[in-house]
Amino acid sequence: MSKLFLIPTPIGNLKDITFRAVEILGSVDLILAEDTRQTKKLLNHYNISTPLQSHHMFNEHKSVESICSKILDGQTIALVSDAGTPGISDPGFLLVRTCVEKEIPVETLPGPTALIPALVNSGLPCDRFCFEGFLPPKKGRNKRMTGLTDETRTMVFYESPFRLVKTLNELAIHLGPDRNACVSRELSKIFEENNRGTLSYLSEYYTNKPPKGEIVIIVAGKKD
Ligand code: SAM
Repeated sequence: MSKLFLIPTPIGNLKDITFRAVEILGSVDLILAEDTRQTKKLLNHYNISTPLQSHHMFNEHKSVESICSKILDGQTIALVSDAGTPGISDPGFLLVRTCVEKEIPVETLPGPTALIPALVNSGLPCDRFCFEGFLPPKKGRNKRMTGLTDETRTMVFYESPFRLVKTLNELAIHLGPDRNACVSRELSKIFEENNRGTLSYLSEYYTNKPPKGEIVIIVAGKKD
């Protein structure tokens, strides 16, 4: 039966893909990709020659209807993002919601995403957590942080290296400089780093050593 698959792809190490993901990418009629050049590298690595179509935040509003029509006409389509799980700080939600509305079957494979290894690796409680994704760069930023002051669950943020110190400083203002946290950088890559300490320690560390690469910040929740 035709359906939409959401396929998680590696966040750094090309070996971090499941056998089933490779099998499905090789057997679907079409792969929707955030950046077709990026996905081509992955497909070449696994000798997959399925046709690719670009699907990103700038064209997804226009293309969801035609994608759904293709599935309703009998095609099976896979959506991937540049890295990790589609829909997690990446395009995916809009297409899934539209498929659900049209009663098109949707199946998301379990697989790579940056937030879970960062959370588990942090050593902070992972029985309950909230995923905050990227904080807004300007408008609404302060409100979001203020809303987290009484949060008791461990918090997960995605961040760019250029904003890391600013974010750590602002989190220290809202949550307290002694709050425990962990900065995970370049997960699954050669220079992976998991730096654990208080928000003030981490801020000072990265002020002296400006970071590069991709970053997840994990922050302990408020003590009950
Ligand atoms: N869909 C992806 C997922 O499932 O994790 C997230 C995509 S989002 C556009 C990219 C952000 O994810 C990066 O800015 C960083 O915060 C985080 N990220 C992705 N890969 C990472 C890695 N290897 N190490 C640390 N953080 C990573």
